[in-house]
Parts: sequence; C-alpha cells; structure tokens
Amino acid sequence: MFILKGISQLEKAIAKAKKIRPRVEFDCFGRYRVSGSKGYYTVVCRKDERGYKTVACTCKGAERGLVCYHSVAALSLHIGLARRQETA
Ligand SMILES: [Zn+2]
Repeated sequence: MFILKGISQLEKAIAKAKKIRPRVEFDCFGRYRVSGSKGYYTVVCRKDERGYKTVACTCKGAERGLVCYHSVAALSLHIGLARRQETA
C-alpha cells in the first residue's frame, strides 16, 4: 500500500504499464482487477480517514510499499471515473 502524493512517484510504474498494457477490469468504484504475470491482482483505491489517497494492490511489490504497474493501471481508470462522478 502506498499514499498517492503526486505524479512523479508514479512515473516509472506508468512507463512499465504502457509497455506491458495490463488488462484492467472494473469491479466496483475504487476496486479493480488488473492482470499480472501470475493472474489477476486486486487494486483498491480509496481515501483514508485522514484524507490521504491510498492505493493497495495484492501483488508482492506493493506489499513492500512499491508503486507497481497494476496500481497505476487501475489508478488511470479510477481517476477518469472519479472525474466523471464529480461532473455528473
Ligand atoms: Zn501490484
């Protein structure tokens, strides 16, 4: 799990996601399934009680606090959906 602070922390993972192009499946708002090397991982994007945007993925890298490409792939969908909700 990591706290989303800015786009700069995501750059490496974005580059990787662009190369690998994982499949992102919508589960419900804030919850997505992303294809990885060993099947699907679940990514949860939410605001915690202090108002921080947190992203959690079930893969090994994210367990160690790394920004994985599954997270950014899910985030790009999540951000688009969040914007749509705000404007609706
Ligand atoms: Zn991951």
